[in-house]
Amino acid sequence: MLVRIDKARVEIIKTASSIDPGIRMDALRLDLIHPVISGNKWFKLRPYLDEAETLHKKKILTWGGAWSNHIVAAAAACRESGYSLTVLVRGEMPAVLSSTLENTMSLGAEIFYLSRDDYRKKTIPPFIDIEDFYCIPEGGSGEPGVSGASGIADLFEFSEYTHIICAAGTGTMSAGLLRRTRPNQELIVIPVLKGFKELENLVRKMAGTGPGKLTLHHEYHFGGYARSDPRLFSFMNDLFEKTGIPTDVVYTGKLFYAAMDMLAKKYFTDGSRILVIHSGGLQGNESLQKGTLIF
Ligand SMILES: *Cc1c(COP(=O)(O)O)cnc(C)c1O
Repeated sequence: MLVRIDKARVEIIKTASSIDPGIRMDALRLDLIHPVISGNKWFKLRPYLDEAETLHKKKILTWGGAWSNHIVAAAAACRESGYSLTVLVRGEMPAVLSSTLENTMSLGAEIFYLSRDDYRKKTIPPFIDIEDFYCIPEGGSGEPGVSGASGIADLFEFSEYTHIICAAGTGTMSAGLLRRTRPNQELIVIPVLKGFKELENLVRKMAGTGPGKLTLHHEYHFGGYARSDPRLFSFMNDLFEKTGIPTDVVYTGKLFYAAMDMLAKKYFTDGSRILVIHSGGLQGNESLQKGTLIF
């Protein structure tokens, strides 16, 4: 069984109130909950591993890209809870392995590479006997992932906030959080994929219910998934200098940028209490050239 996590650090972002003294903005530091299984992946994985246990499965199969936060989190979670993990990675084996792949392997996972075409078709290689495995979808999406992610709302005083703001890839975490909102609360979602306009309906559908207001803000993707530019790097460095909060280049850098930009543009009325969910993902920064970030 994976250890239970029932608390996470919430800290005030002081620079936010210096931009707009009428508000208070806090950060939920899910990046600090575990040395490897950082952020939201822990919460999305847990119900899957519980189900694998109920079904008496010992072997887990999952999917992901070469820099995926999910695969390394799954490897650590499987090692801690006694499962063997096989990962099907998108694309040919790279000449130089990413640190994500290295770490995933050093946590005992077995990796096979699929061509992009086979990956898209979810082809199972012939040497894998799928009957033996419990499968976790890419990114931990799906209903167990949504219900696991809704547990993030139990880590802090959810009802104290007028706005919760988070980044989205598949929208699984957003759906879990939306489920927990009340009518006077707004969930602000920052998609990191470019032009993912169907995401709003997807999140509502996955959530099923959620009386709170949901808004998606599509202008903070910085060119698309895993794209970035010097403007983002200098924002991330500046944020770290001012607050001590490290962010990642794929999700949380864009998230904090959006939060600060919306603040500067007076999106929030006086008296707002805003919680930014730092969903982890720092391992992905290894993909950057050394010296790009100061942390
Ligand atoms: C996976 C991930 C997300 C996105 O979660 P979804 O549930 O797919 O929307 C956000 N932040 C980080 C750091 C992640 O690793």
